[in-house]
Amino acid sequence: MNNVEKVHCLIIGSGPAGYTAAIYASRAGLQPVLYQGAEPGGQLMLTTEVENFPGYPHGILGPQMMSDLQEQASRFGADIRTGVATRVDFSTSPKKVIIDDEKEIHADAVIIATGASAKWLGLESESRLRAGGVSSCAVCDGFFHRGKPVAVVGGGDSAAEEASYLAKICSKVYLVVRRDKMRASQIMQKRVMSLPNVEILWNTETVEILGEQTVTGARFRNVLTNEIREIELSGFFVAIGHQPNTAIFKDYLALDEQGYIITRKGSTHTNIEGVFACGDVQDKIYRQAITAAASGCMAALDAERYLATLEIH
Ligand code: NDP
Repeated sequence: MNNVEKVHCLIIGSGPAGYTAAIYASRAGLQPVLYQGAEPGGQLMLTTEVENFPGYPHGILGPQMMSDLQEQASRFGADIRTGVATRVDFSTSPKKVIIDDEKEIHADAVIIATGASAKWLGLESESRLRAGGVSSCAVCDGFFHRGKPVAVVGGGDSAAEEASYLAKICSKVYLVVRRDKMRASQIMQKRVMSLPNVEILWNTETVEILGEQTVTGARFRNVLTNEIREIELSGFFVAIGHQPNTAIFKDYLALDEQGYIITRKGSTHTNIEGVFACGDVQDKIYRQAITAAASGCMAALDAERYLATLEIH
């Protein structure tokens, strides 16, 4: 490849982990280059109010927090660029990372902060209607269903949050839970169950989303009774968890059975020297903005120490 650039410290991903790594790495003089990836700002771009990040007594909007983090990283000289890492070769040093299939970065240290993306049910009608009312983001698309009925699939905190958000905008929200209980925290469950226009469909799976160009309804099945119920809908929201964005690393990095990068306990070191991982791409347990940011800080400090040893040798 003709288009080759050598960098000291490369950061892939732009959620709280990536930006925090960029803040620490730039202040440490590592001149980090950060590629924002396919979803600049990460999952916090899809949320509204963040109320549990320490230091914001009145909360802050997710997108605002990400724009502040980007500004903070830029202020100390981090080189923040648009572009997606499409391939890597970690068999050599420096490590090779291909951006948008056209540019090759040679990096002494690589910090992976590519996060996790929304999971889908896998129905044909779901992918066909993705641009016609099927969504994984209530904050992004709820507005289109103002005053109309919608469904949210899932039983975790995301589903509870999406349903609560949509209940403010839509006439009715059906929360479709596949078991007889929700996985969401007690406080979120209580909140969503107290809303008068939210109806929970327990033990229910989606058979098909109905509509040609746009969603008109969905067909649900009660898994205990086999009863089929068709409900008229304007929007269909899927909130069933996330998949770590690790496909391009699988040939080099040790991943767990769900595809999350395995890091050495108490650190951000992967199984390859000079490659570090932070944020949701290596954390399926906590998955909070604050824990992602904290591990981004750890990755920058680990990278700094690693780069210092390279200079000695
Ligand atoms: P979770 O993995 O916690 O929950 C996924 C939910 O989707 C489960 O109820 C699961 O059902 C259900 N599900 C999975 N696959 C299917 C399927 N094919 N069909 C139907 N239902 C399905 O994911 P979340 O995204 O909700 O949360 C992830 C993490 O982020 C959690 O730790 C959560 O606490 C946190 N979070 C916190 C928020 C907050 O505090 N404000 C907001 C959003 C998330 P089952 O239970 O049967 O497996």
